[in-house]
Amino acid sequence: MPWRASFQNPLTKVAVFLRIVKEVIFMTVEQKAQIKSLRCQGVGYGTISKMLGISSNTVSSFCRRNKPGNTNNKSICKQCGKPLEIKSKRKPRKFCSDACRLTWWNNHLEYVDRKAMYSFVCAECGKPFTAYGNVHRKYCSRECYIKGRYRKGKPR
Ligand SMILES: [Zn+2]
Ligand SMILES: [Zn+2]
Repeated sequence: MPWRASFQNPLTKVAVFLRIVKEVIFMTVEQKAQIKSLRCQGVGYGTISKMLGISSNTVSSFCRRNKPGNTNNKSICKQCGKPLEIKSKRKPRKFCSDACRLTWWNNHLEYVDRKAMYSFVCAECGKPFTAYGNVHRKYCSRECYIKGRYRKGKPR
């Protein structure tokens, strides 16, 4: 019997339940990964269900059994949730493609950059400069660093 027939009729509780069970069973690995990834980004069940074409009941019942805390994010793209190929002897990848990497960084630019970019004034030449991810920079360049160290050792 074609199970889709039950959709045309007003959905009874049993039919809703069966639909959820079937959708969960037939959900692809990719869809599961996408749900996990989207939930980690704080996307609501309703939005996920529209994006993936799965009923929101299915999404929420899947999420209840797969709490975001248990998610292993290492093997799925941070942007689109696509499973990533894991190549041994290589750094674990976070994105499936450069396009996804760019999109993600563009979306998180403000948040990430404000945290990681620091402004300094060079202790040697007095030029202002910015450095990424290092709070303890003193010199704008290696040249100034060497000059500074040299002066320290041999005061004028
Ligand atoms: Zn991707
Ligand atoms: Zn300098």
